[in-house]
Amino acid sequence: MTQMNITGKKEMMRVAIIANSKYQSRRIAAKLFAILKDDPDFYLSKKNPHVVISIGGDGMLLSAFHKYERELSHVRFVGVHTGHLGFYTDYRDFEIDELIENLRKDTGEKVSYPILKVKITLDNGREIKSLALNEATVKRIEKTMVADVIINHVKFERFRGDGISVSTPTGSTAYNKSLGGAVLHPTIEALQLTEISSLNNRVFRTLGSSVIVPKKDKIEVIPKRLGSYTISVDNSTLHCKNVAKIEYCINSEKISFVATPSHTSFWERVKDAFIGDLDS
Ligand code: NAD
Repeated sequence: MTQMNITGKKEMMRVAIIANSKYQSRRIAAKLFAILKDDPDFYLSKKNPHVVISIGGDGMLLSAFHKYERELSHVRFVGVHTGHLGFYTDYRDFEIDELIENLRKDTGEKVSYPILKVKITLDNGREIKSLALNEATVKRIEKTMVADVIINHVKFERFRGDGISVSTPTGSTAYNKSLGGAVLHPTIEALQLTEISSLNNRVFRTLGSSVIVPKKDKIEVIPKRLGSYTISVDNSTLHCKNVAKIEYCINSEKISFVATPSHTSFWERVKDAFIGDLDS
């Protein structure tokens, strides 16, 4: 529970608690708050926390990530799920006492996963930069999206269809999977480009399958038509006019989670979420 400061002295663990608006999440947040506020090992603070406890589901963890995305070098996250076990949540709502005990024994160990860096350049030169924990998608709503896809400076294909998704390894089980993309173990440092309803016929041709690019490679999408594009980054959406280019690469900093002794393996989570009990 104690953190070392630069002088080597131990300091209290600064904890931020954030929860979604569901009754059960607010109840768990209130319980945690009541326990930690009088505990000499912990200091509750939304500012500059060592650990962010997100209470809700994967969506809440995405929001917690974006709230603290500028503090990734020193923040670790813990997810408490108030529904089924999620992909970013290690604890269920009835395991709060276990969570507190594990934080008390914490020695600063972490599990870190790659995140995506996105840069959108508009026709007027304006740049919008963002980080994604799951994925970034670009879609053209009114008409077919036509865009050149460039992978590591190779003009790879001219895409025609609804849009393109670029996901992180941990995001591979989210929207990417619904689009037919592969599930990637989060220790693999790679990005996955997945098509959203591509047009494929005798005239128009794309690869058709998703593409997994390694850490050092950059993906660029260059829309070929003026107009409105809808760009989503995790759980937020932007509507941009006249997008000149979108660049994607793996961010230099990762997201870190508090290493949990009873951490559910990635494959167990995938099985639990998508396959279920084999004996039923
Ligand atoms: P939400 O809360 O409705 O989340 C949608 C579902 O995605 C939830 O069941 C959530 O548990 C699950 N999810 C989120 N991250 C996941 C992950 N990494 N692996 C497996 N499942 C995951 O909506 P939201 O809070 O706005 O979440 C945004 C996310 O929803 C986006 O990042 C995107 O991945 C996902 N999404 C999925 C689809 C789809 O599958 N067709 C469409 C839009 C968005």
